[in-house]
Amino acid sequence: METVRRKSLLYRSGLGFWCLNHVQGCAHGCRYPCYASLMARRYGRAKDEADWRRPRRVENAVELLERELSRRRERLDVVHLCLTTDPFMFGYPEVAATSLALVARLNAHGVRASVLTKGLLPMELAGERFDRRNVLGISLVSLDEGFRRRFEPGAAPYAERIAALGRLHAAGCRTLVHVEPYPTPNIVKQDVRSLLEAVAFVDELYFGGWNYSPLAGAYGDRDAFYREQARIVRAFCRETRIRGTVDA
Ligand code: SF4
Repeated sequence: METVRRKSLLYRSGLGFWCLNHVQGCAHGCRYPCYASLMARRYGRAKDEADWRRPRRVENAVELLERELSRRRERLDVVHLCLTTDPFMFGYPEVAATSLALVARLNAHGVRASVLTKGLLPMELAGERFDRRNVLGISLVSLDEGFRRRFEPGAAPYAERIAALGRLHAAGCRTLVHVEPYPTPNIVKQDVRSLLEAVAFVDELYFGGWNYSPLAGAYGDRDAFYREQARIVRAFCRETRIRGTVDA
């Protein structure tokens, strides 16, 4: 796998939380589209889609994180992995190994990690060197593999993604499912209840609509559709006592 070197790693995102991205590019190649890919192409960090899907690991990421955490006066509470790449990129064990090392460094400094992936969360995250307050999450907007091949072509199959999360939950880890961008019926016909049932074991759930694509905007009853999905998700979270956040 190719590598790059960086001068800094930790930063506060425009969304207000701290995060780090230790890979440039992402092999998952999501076509919602992926905002990070659009930005990388606009600012010259990727030439085109193929270039974006050729990930380069930041070879000095662990060293940078250690230095930045040691020099901070104020301790961070939580750091998110990742906003512009995927920390457990499917089929890239080098990326997963670096992510584990980074989460371990964060936890050793008393900083929690929040992790979100469309890959497979490894069981190592349930190990003793990791903080049980970490939040381990997967993105999941469908159970339809046809949809995945079309919109998340390089990401892990849904059943494997859910199974990996379930194993960590069973081992006592705090788990989350991020259901965004949830597709409208003109993109894929599905019942949100089946998706919710498949991840009914999680501790936290986030649900959001598909806000930045003309595809979803073209669906005539878009607002009514999301109102109804939001109602179903809220009711499900109440019944199952999952901590739910609905933004749709
Ligand atoms: S997993 Fe995330 S970073 Fe990677 S292509 Fe998909 S949306 Fe972009």
